[in-house]
Amino acid sequence: MTDWIAAAAAVRPETRLFINGEFRAAEGDAVFATVAPRDGSTIAEVSSASAADVDDAVQAAARAFASGVWSRADRRERQRVLVRLSDLMLEHLDELALLESLDSGHPIGDSLRVDVPNAARVFRWYAEALDKVSDEIAPAPEQALALVTREALGVVGAVVPWNYPLIISSWKLAPALAAGNSVVLKPAELTSLSALKLAELAHEAGVPAGVLNVVPGLGAVAGQALGRHPRVDKIAFTGSPRVGLEFMRYSGESNGKQVSLELGGKSPQIVLDDVADLEACASAVAWGIFYNAGQTCHGGSRLIVQDGVADALVAAVQRIGSELVQGDPLLESTQIGTIASETQLQRVLEYVDVARGEGAEVWGGDRLRLDGLDGGYYVSPTVFTGVDNASRVAREEIFGPALTVIRVADAAEALRVANDSEYGLAASVWTRDLTTAHRIARGLRAGTVWVNTFDVADVITPFGGFGGSGSGRDRSLHALDSYTALKTTWIDLGGDL
Ligand code: NAP
Ligand code: MG
Repeated sequence: MTDWIAAAAAVRPETRLFINGEFRAAEGDAVFATVAPRDGSTIAEVSSASAADVDDAVQAAARAFASGVWSRADRRERQRVLVRLSDLMLEHLDELALLESLDSGHPIGDSLRVDVPNAARVFRWYAEALDKVSDEIAPAPEQALALVTREALGVVGAVVPWNYPLIISSWKLAPALAAGNSVVLKPAELTSLSALKLAELAHEAGVPAGVLNVVPGLGAVAGQALGRHPRVDKIAFTGSPRVGLEFMRYSGESNGKQVSLELGGKSPQIVLDDVADLEACASAVAWGIFYNAGQTCHGGSRLIVQDGVADALVAAVQRIGSELVQGDPLLESTQIGTIASETQLQRVLEYVDVARGEGAEVWGGDRLRLDGLDGGYYVSPTVFTGVDNASRVAREEIFGPALTVIRVADAAEALRVANDSEYGLAASVWTRDLTTAHRIARGLRAGTVWVNTFDVADVITPFGGFGGSGSGRDRSLHALDSYTALKTTWIDLGGDL
């Protein structure tokens, strides 16, 4: 077994901006510190892009796009390069996984088995799709031929959060690059290191200079500069509703660029009295909120449970929560790692106080101080009971390992409560009754509905939200489409022949 703690001590990550195929310092050598959530120590100083640096990256991306080196390359060439990138990610599995765990606090076992392989699969999947999708011929009159073709948009700005840095970046980069766009990626300030490694591997795989640029930096500076840039054709964003709406404003105040938004959720897990396997359900509910310490946009943070099974289910969820191994993300035995930052940890703890103030009974919800890692950001699994759906802990996204339990009398009330939310990202229903399952699945306003399971997903299906969860869709061929514009070519075939 690898000694990841020793490996982390020796790691010397790339920290500079990646623009036009080269790593370089930011304007004025500006930097910010990136911290290891496992103990609060500084890993490295990362270059902090200014608006001028972002402009350099966008100009490089626009030049590369106009040159056609990637945008008009044979799609088999793009396919070959992106498959190579996917392979390189797996060849560098250990290095990428270590950077991800060290920088974000994900358990190393998850980074090795989930984050890096999933991200690599996304690149491979879109690359492989490239010679399997055809354009269209419209049913034009006999004397005409009307072609409907998809063309790359131009320069895509991807702005991503810190909860799944590699996976969410791959959801945006892979279809955008596959379609022939140039991309400027602004990673989250908390987690830039894996994105810079990805840039290095993309370069090695043969992605031409300027086609992929990575500009770590502060949201209000680098993120805003990208959002307002007149040469950017689309922003693909995942993060908070507040910042998502800012990007729409930036677009409106600049060039009207497209903006796709994935803005988190307050996903309900509905469990009815006739649930087939209470233990399996409890396990899915527990993992659905405690995995990645609850920092999952579609995390099942509201348990909407019918009275008959409520006590038994909550007890089982708490038992499973207390059995999960929480600790140093760099130990392979760890199942639950850290919150990503001190700020986010304080936010989670504030919600524990809010819940108490709202009369909730609080189970867990403690900051843990681990031996030798007392500067780390650990919060124990948390369950709030005794509140209703009007409480703040039932309405607001906490983004920590905190489950809010709401009891209901029947399926109709469960559906009503589930939909009584600003968000609509994901949901589940647990029942043995096929008709009830289908009816509830139809009735739920959510981009993904699981029946008798939770959080099973793959690049093959779209992911995104209704309502306040945003309107964009990552994953699937629909996402590939979303990085293209449709062009109509109408050809007159009139004549004597
Ligand atoms: P956030 O502020 O929305 O950050 C997302 C991205 O936007 C980051 O790259 C961020 O850069 C950038 N950004 C921040 N302010 C910006 C601005 N004014 N203009 C342009 N770009 C800007 O999310 P957060 O603060 O990290 O997390 C806050 C809350 O958002 C969480 O507690 C959680 O509820 C929610 N969240 C949701 C998701 C999701 O998957 N939907 C993911 C993470 C967080 P910096 O990193 O430099 O700030
Ligand atoms: Mg960090």
